[in-house]
Amino acid sequence: MPRPFPHRHLLGIDPLSAEDILFLLDEAEPWIDFGRQARKEDRRLAGLTQFNLFFENSTRTLFSFEVAGKRLGAQVANFHPGGSSVRKGESLIDTALTLNAMRPDVMVVRHNESGAPQQVAEVAGCPVVNGGDGTNEHPTQALLDALTMRRRKGRIEGLTVAICGDIRHSRVAGSNRKLLPKLGAEVRLVGPPALLPDDAGGAATFTDLDEGIKDADVVMMLRIQRERMEESVSGTLADFHARYGLTYARLDRAAPDALVMHPGPMNRGVEIEGALADDPDRSAILDQVENGVAVRMAVLDVLTRARRE
Ligand code: ASP
Repeated sequence: MPRPFPHRHLLGIDPLSAEDILFLLDEAEPWIDFGRQARKEDRRLAGLTQFNLFFENSTRTLFSFEVAGKRLGAQVANFHPGGSSVRKGESLIDTALTLNAMRPDVMVVRHNESGAPQQVAEVAGCPVVNGGDGTNEHPTQALLDALTMRRRKGRIEGLTVAICGDIRHSRVAGSNRKLLPKLGAEVRLVGPPALLPDDAGGAATFTDLDEGIKDADVVMMLRIQRERMEESVSGTLADFHARYGLTYARLDRAAPDALVMHPGPMNRGVEIEGALADDPDRSAILDQVENGVAVRMAVLDVLTRARRE
């Protein structure tokens, strides 16, 4: 009998215990091999309806939630705000109430405003998953990152993880810096002063990349989130690369077998050297994508279990 997951929604990392996180990672693990089979068909969500409400652009997250739901047999419907009454000024809550009246069994919400999925969850009659909200959180990204670290490094506890780049605007950093310490990893935040958060929440901060990645087991690179910046970042992208771009030469300062990660979309030649990103011995970027489908299958399965029983 699988352990019950004591949460209705997955909106952020704060409410999750280490056991909850490990439970989700263990649930995700078998879906990786499943995804490598020719026939990727499971029927446990058959008859259930999954709505994906992506108010902001997405490549990996939207597509992998759609693939995840379909591989589990759900009927997946994607709401496109661009062609909807959101354009006519319908509010988020009215949109959520309207879609909720169509009786989905699970909803995935991405929005450029922090807190939007939480607002939807308050009026939803079904579990809600945060697919990324503003600069706040992206919990399934942190889960897939943890799964990737566990598989590539054999453990999470005791790892030193340097998260580098635009930390201030990154919801990926927002979720990872909460999740990783719960599993016993040490997090460092590395970036230009203007792109570090006001509150590092206990993590060590570095403004020098070479210092920040020294002896790190995992180096997680993030892009500059220009769409979330009110202030313009001074300097050119070439300057940024010179000071904060990860290259093979720089990676020598990290632990000898350090793993490179990036949630995507990446800007080759800005925060990361293209050849390093493509090197499967050093970079886990495509593992992150593969593991993302598995994590999202686990999340959809676990959150809809109560409804299916
Ligand atoms: N894809 C990630 C996100 O949605 C990272 C990024 O956009 O830089 O937050």
